[in-house]
Amino acid sequence: MGEHEHELVVRGGTVIDGTGADRRVADVAVDGGRVTLVGDVPGSGAEELDATGLLVTPGWVDVHTHYDGQVTWDPLLTPSSWQGVTTVVMGNCGVGFAPVKPDRHDWLIALMEGVEDIPGTALAEGISWGWESFPEYLDVIERLPHALDVAAQVPHGALRGYVMGDRGADHEEVPTADEIETMGRLAAEGIRAGALGFTTSRTVNHRSSDGRPTPSLTATADELLGIARGVGATGAGVLQLVADLVDLETEFALIRSMAEVSGRPLSITTLSEPHRGDWKALLDHISAAQADGVPIRGQVAARPVGVLMGLEGRLHPLVTSPTYQAMADAPLSDRVARLRDPEVRATVIGELANGGLVFGSYAGIFPLGDPPEYDPGAQRSIEAIAAREGRAPVEVALDVLLERDGVGLLYLPFANYADQDFATIRAMLLHPHTVPGLGDAGAHCGMISDGSMPTYLIAHWGRDVAEPLPLEWLVSQQTRETAALVGLHDRGVLAPGYRADLNLIDEAELGILVPEMVQDLPAGGKRYIQRATGYRATVQSGQVTFRDGESAGALPGQLVRGAQPAPA
Ligand SMILES: [Zn+2]
Repeated sequence: MGEHEHELVVRGGTVIDGTGADRRVADVAVDGGRVTLVGDVPGSGAEELDATGLLVTPGWVDVHTHYDGQVTWDPLLTPSSWQGVTTVVMGNCGVGFAPVKPDRHDWLIALMEGVEDIPGTALAEGISWGWESFPEYLDVIERLPHALDVAAQVPHGALRGYVMGDRGADHEEVPTADEIETMGRLAAEGIRAGALGFTTSRTVNHRSSDGRPTPSLTATADELLGIARGVGATGAGVLQLVADLVDLETEFALIRSMAEVSGRPLSITTLSEPHRGDWKALLDHISAAQADGVPIRGQVAARPVGVLMGLEGRLHPLVTSPTYQAMADAPLSDRVARLRDPEVRATVIGELANGGLVFGSYAGIFPLGDPPEYDPGAQRSIEAIAAREGRAPVEVALDVLLERDGVGLLYLPFANYADQDFATIRAMLLHPHTVPGLGDAGAHCGMISDGSMPTYLIAHWGRDVAEPLPLEWLVSQQTRETAALVGLHDRGVLAPGYRADLNLIDEAELGILVPEMVQDLPAGGKRYIQRATGYRATVQSGQVTFRDGESAGALPGQLVRGAQPAPA
């Protein structure tokens, strides 16, 4: 390094190191992509970042994303890279793109389009393929440039399609013993090649774009335990799943058995939603399993999971109005101008006498606002506003959609907000056996934008609520704990030997901006994106990748192959 002692020194920041320890003012020295010293760093760095007045934290580890396709065309993996995330784990919820037979590409695209609302045309144009097996998929990902580290999991849906062909999506069919054995062997093959685990879905919410339930929905105990045994034989890997848990006792017993027969850690989506089993009972079962030494944890969300409705999105109350339908393909500015015409407005509202909602009710729909408000409370529902103003809810909704020249958003939180307050979410976050997740970054392009959850966790729960949670604890949940959940013990902590992935944060400025619709997917596909404020710099493997929300050009991210030990 010539006259410099270190490659990089982050100077004078307030370090929150990811272990939960109290913050302290310290320098951080980095060499060879690893932290080498935290404290007083006397020597100089070839590059120095002045962190005076800033928080210095490990980069966020987001264990629940769906970048399986995007990873092949987008080196930046936005929105996660804008949100301080330095490691993403994809392949969740049983969907992904490997293994795949050459003639089943469209089958997997339809599954991803249906389950995760990623435009099939974007996936078809964007994915270059070039793999059949899961190890081959990893090889392709590894050769591509990335701004952040990427890790993959073997998805059950793809395994079923690969091994069972069309029968894999037919819920009347069960795999033969041979097929189960093959799925277990292929899951193990993926894990031995570097997948972090195996994932599956047992929720009726997940459907392919042809309307059929996700392939793994009705998988039997024989199948799940057979695959779990295959995973267990590797002595590595984790299990991840989402399930409706309507019959909580039976379902949880099966899920617990998966962890038991494999001897591997398992995490499960934990949400409060009307059609799901009770979340408190689920957490009690998780605690009971933990008490028996069975490592099951809940993945929880830092805010409600909510649908966005806007004139540029897939869903909003006007879509059922024939007058609106006639203009639906016109540019936004034209639609806004027409909807502001009093006559057109009256006609549209007249056609929407039933309110226009395809699902939900105006008592549970809110103006998202700018900046976005994710905990509006009952008094801010469209119904409450309409009652106060003596107007029809649909009129209030229309005005919200027309805000900011037609990019206003209605927000329909469908999970974790039944009581219209955040007490449920607080309890979930504070439960001893949960970790933050469920942002689904990279997915739900036309309706949901929750990839910003890591920023929200820190900013909202650490600062904006009446009784903030300790920042040190929140940071550890989004770094060391999420990393540990998937076996990555080499990151999430700022101490010598750990990966030099970190954020320099202006705490007062930290926040998320209102989601916006952009048309930047392959084939002109649209998606909601969301940017953040307050991230002065993000460092990946010792290189500055983002400054003030913009890429600095460096692409040091890598495919993470398999579990990683903690530094010696
Ligand atoms: Zn998911």
